[in-house]
Amino acid sequence: MIKKIKVGLDFDGAIAYNPFRIIRAPVTYVKRSIFGARKLNFYYPKNNFQKLLWKIIHESSIFPAKGIDVLRDLVAKELIEAHLITARYSFLNNQLYTWLGKNRLTGVFKTININEKDEQPHLFKEKMVNKHKLAIFIEDNLDIVKHLHGRSKTKIYWIYNIVDRHYPHPYKFPYLERALEKIMKQV
Ligand SMILES: [Mg+2]
Repeated sequence: MIKKIKVGLDFDGAIAYNPFRIIRAPVTYVKRSIFGARKLNFYYPKNNFQKLLWKIIHESSIFPAKGIDVLRDLVAKELIEAHLITARYSFLNNQLYTWLGKNRLTGVFKTININEKDEQPHLFKEKMVNKHKLAIFIEDNLDIVKHLHGRSKTKIYWIYNIVDRHYPHPYKFPYLERALEKIMKQV
């Protein structure tokens, strides 16, 4: 029997494609290049209004990424063991489960790891990557990729965007399907 490859997947930006990303990218670029904002602290919505706004923005992560069929297939063939690791804040839980159900993805994941305590995303993900002893973790956020890369044996597969695409990283892919294809070459 072949040993299944343990693969962790981020949700927003890896499994779900958010059309706002393309709008947000230039904003990130301006923040970084003009204001030099590069610190690894993530924004947390403080009051109910901000939470509502955040929900609306995340509600737009509605499109399944190109590659979820391949993901389902690889799990069905028992080639990989998939773990969902999302640092979205806990008040978004219901939306997450609804979305996974709608897209026939709930049963695909061996574990679904949610940032219940609203920890800083990079620290939460680091913890989960180690907990599940993942061979590969697929993530879209470059700051998180940089934080995780080289910190353990886990290979960090980066789903890049148009702004950051020139950043050198050993494992970079335009979308999920390409990352999964690379994993399959190792089987
Ligand atoms: Mg993400």
